[in-house]
Amino acid sequence: MKYNFHTHSHHDDGKEPLEDFVKEAVEKGLQAIGFTGHSPLPFSNEWSLPKETYPDYLAEVRRLKEQYKDVIDVYMGLEIDYIPGYSDNFRNFLNGAGLDYCIGSVHLVMKPGSNECSDIWFIDGPREGYLKGIDRLFDGDARAAAEAFFEQSREMVATQRPHIIGHLDKVNMHNKGDLFNPSEEWYQKAVHRLLEAVAAAGTIVELNTRGVYSGKTDAFFPATPILQKCFEYDIPVMVNTDAHHPSQVDKLFDEGVQLLKDIGYRKMTTPFFEVEI
Ligand SMILES: [Zn+2]
Ligand SMILES: [Zn+2]
Repeated sequence: MKYNFHTHSHHDDGKEPLEDFVKEAVEKGLQAIGFTGHSPLPFSNEWSLPKETYPDYLAEVRRLKEQYKDVIDVYMGLEIDYIPGYSDNFRNFLNGAGLDYCIGSVHLVMKPGSNECSDIWFIDGPREGYLKGIDRLFDGDARAAAEAFFEQSREMVATQRPHIIGHLDKVNMHNKGDLFNPSEEWYQKAVHRLLEAVAAAGTIVELNTRGVYSGKTDAFFPATPILQKCFEYDIPVMVNTDAHHPSQVDKLFDEGVQLLKDIGYRKMTTPFFEVEI
């Protein structure tokens, strides 16, 4: 049984209309599809839902939910960025729009102790910006930067309680083994603190396949040793493809499921149902 609860359309930084994703999902035999445009942000950028067209996104998902209700379950969600002092409370997004669920993600790391918009480190996008951010905001200390990412993620889980945590170790994507070593003790401690919060909040960890099929990483998010820790701590997991195009609705889904099985998982948990594997 397939599903995908992490998708981006032309409303934010993906391609093609929402309905094309639904059609493709039906064609590929998915039982459910959830839409998670990037939450509107209080400053201009090229990838989140613009405030002005956010209502159109919501209206379109509601329309598709109704239109396809006998064919596939459509869920209305958001991938909400957590930026201390900047992002709106997740409950306001959920209640304000009547969302079915949300993914909490950190793409923008606030320099600890600051609340200036200019002190935000963007971990996604081109690698050049990632490297420049470490130099400018963390004096070149990649360890401090990665620790800030995990601490902000921990705070997000503890205070905002999203249903799902998105690409839990994305901070490692542009590292490429150059700047820090994820097998070092400080890194594992930072991950451990985050997983403790995840376990306490009952948050679902997604195995996100996008890094691999987009050619940016060799491993899924999060890396296998972290997924093994999730299994040890009895943390619920699911597979998402973070599709930015309809053709990606089930990209490497089966491979992700296989990895979870190899680790020992016998079921996947979505915000709405469980799937035996
Ligand atoms: Zn994301
Ligand atoms: Zn995403």
